Amino acid sequence: MVSRVIPVDPFDLVIFGGTGDLARRKILPALYRRYRDGQMPEEARIIGAARSELDADGYRAEIRAAFKEFLRAEECDDQVDAFLERLDYLPIDAMGEGGWPELKTKMRDGVTQAFYFSVGPSLFGALAERLHTNGIARSDARIVVEKPFGRDLGSAKALNATLAQHFDETQIYRIDHYLGKETVQNLMAIRFGNVLFEPLWNAQYVDHVQITVAEGVGVGGRGAYYDKSGAMRDMVQNHLMQLLCLTAMEPPNKFEPDAVRDEKLKVIRALQPVAPADIVRGQYNGNDGPSYVEDAETPDSRTESYIAMKLEIANWRWNGTPFYLRTGKRMKARKSEIVVTFKDTPHSIFDEDAGQRANILSIRLQPDEGIDLSVTIKEPGPGGMRLVDVPLDMTFAEALGPDAENVPDAYERLIMDVIRGNQTLFMRGDEVEAAWAWTDPIIEGWTERRDKPAGYDAGSSGPEEALMLMHRDGRRWRDLT
Ligand code: NAP
Repeated sequence: MVSRVIPVDPFDLVIFGGTGDLARRKILPALYRRYRDGQMPEEARIIGAARSELDADGYRAEIRAAFKEFLRAEECDDQVDAFLERLDYLPIDAMGEGGWPELKTKMRDGVTQAFYFSVGPSLFGALAERLHTNGIARSDARIVVEKPFGRDLGSAKALNATLAQHFDETQIYRIDHYLGKETVQNLMAIRFGNVLFEPLWNAQYVDHVQITVAEGVGVGGRGAYYDKSGAMRDMVQNHLMQLLCLTAMEPPNKFEPDAVRDEKLKVIRALQPVAPADIVRGQYNGNDGPSYVEDAETPDSRTESYIAMKLEIANWRWNGTPFYLRTGKRMKARKSEIVVTFKDTPHSIFDEDAGQRANILSIRLQPDEGIDLSVTIKEPGPGGMRLVDVPLDMTFAEALGPDAENVPDAYERLIMDVIRGNQTLFMRGDEVEAAWAWTDPIIEGWTERRDKPAGYDAGSSGPEEALMLMHRDGRRWRDLT
């Protein structure tokens, strides 16, 4: 059931930051899997670049070790050697002048050209400029940039302007790996490929939407970095915002990059400012391990490791339907889902205690990606008209059978999209800026009020105040387990 693999065109992909964590853990394993599957052609070449003084063999040895760590044992077969043959390396300091002429001579004509900026954003400008001034990047080259894309509107605008000096918007691929997830794309397929849902997808029939990205882990190990951003910058402004957009957007007239991104942008622009009473911020306590402030090594930190909020989208489709978002670290379980709760039937013909419930469509991003729709049916048996909820379950692992393991992960799909030149699942510059324009006043409000996050127990569902945010509207959060 998994679609046929169509090889992409031959390419030269330069990974700046090729020795870093992201390259070792995600980018190169993703490329290897595409190679093993026959999608990455033999002629493709990957050139790692970083300051470390390595030669090509040294780099291959590093990546071989990374594969042992990050690939499943059964994936590390005889294809690894063949893949590593495709790897090259050049020591290049993004801020220096050495290595660029050598890089230029390695780039081939007639193949797709892509540059992955897997380094901190402070180096994006230097890389873009040197690729340009050394005459390396062609006018059809693609650059891939990672999050964080700015930490507020001003810095995002500055980054966009820097990149725009040397690259056209059609060449820039801003990655949000949530958009590469199978279920996220399936959300669009379900909405726009079926006649069933779209007529109901509005304030008349939808009671509310919940979007959850809960993590079991804390910020230990990267606490000092995380403390400068917090859940709002790290998760809401990008990942949750993207999920919200895909759930709420109007049907684009075509499944094409700008048509889809125009509709997402309209959703962000229609978001109402959020009142302080509609936001709950939290920090995990150290009941069974280090607390947030211990992990962040900042005893008086006011950064949130949890956030829950109620959003309103001011347009005809959604007026009056709240969207509840929550994300947090050290939660009861690792779970990401979008849940659409439909309204009750306008009139029930059944007894009040028959057990009729509203329909719920849940789109699970992790774990076990899949979609289920709860529908009410009659409880089997002679016990009268008793009603029961049953899920119409579309767990991919079950629907796809043994092929489910081969569903590519987000990075595999997104990197292949870069090579194919398809920007649909990448954020456009104006989208990112609009998201920051909405986020900034909220964060500024916290700073002005010296807002202090509420404590919550590690391993719980978040602060009590977040439960109240729902209870006061007569609703409840979905259980995290
Ligand atoms: P990292 O482990 O610190 O790696 C940074 C890489 O950049 C290394 O290869 C480093 O190698 C290279 N580098 C640093 N300064 C350089 C310079 N002046 N010139 C050339 N290369 C330089 O960071 P990472 O975790 O891989 O993250 C890379 C980027 O992806 C960051 O922007 C991060 O926010 C983003 N990101 C990471 C993840 C993740 O899971 N890791 C997830 C999402 C986004 P040398 O020291 O040898 O130069």
